[in-house]
Amino acid sequence: MRILIVEDEKDLNRQLEDACLEAGYVVDKAYDGEEGHFLGDTEPYDAVILDIGLPEMDGLTILEKWRENGKTMPVLMLTARDRWSDKVTGMDAGADDYVAKPFHIEEVLARLRALIRRSSGQASSQLTCGEIVFDTRTSKVTYQGSAVKLTSHELRLLSYLLHHPGEVISRTELTEHLYDQDFDKDSNTIEVFVGRLRKKLDPDFVETVRGLGYRLRENT
Ligand code: CA
Repeated sequence: MRILIVEDEKDLNRQLEDACLEAGYVVDKAYDGEEGHFLGDTEPYDAVILDIGLPEMDGLTILEKWRENGKTMPVLMLTARDRWSDKVTGMDAGADDYVAKPFHIEEVLARLRALIRRSSGQASSQLTCGEIVFDTRTSKVTYQGSAVKLTSHELRLLSYLLHHPGEVISRTELTEHLYDQDFDKDSNTIEVFVGRLRKKLDPDFVETVRGLGYRLRENT
């Protein structure tokens, strides 16, 4: 899952980044409105943390522009105060949720998880495929009831697949959502990680759709 953080306060941006990395997300950052708008407009993100008060372009304007341009990724807005008028304006502009500053990082992460889950149509915080269970709160994976140790790359890949059941997902899409913008993207590595997941988990949990990508096996 790839997250964009748009926050001009450097310390806060870094805190959010650290927490998101710790939670297993891939993170891109912007420190002003123009850069943030550009990234959200051109790169595929699974969720965005967007501050309202930003230099160059404010958060509400950015959000309106994204929505006008058909960008539907979930957006969590950061408001400077717990002001109801900011919330109403933001909701109208297309925000999905809010956190008022100062906040606890845990609350931001919980809201982020909920947004990502909802946007992929998942009601439960536990995602399953057959006997594979992924707990989005703890990032722990079990297969047939036993804990399985996965590397961060394997975990990201599994998480993305589990958030998109029934969809054929191309290697390019996976590459875009599993690495940040600075990573030297090589879609061949995806195949390696899929192979490792098949070995550590159920070998049939994901099928290869020739020439197109991968599809998670249906839960039966
Ligand atoms: Ca700010």
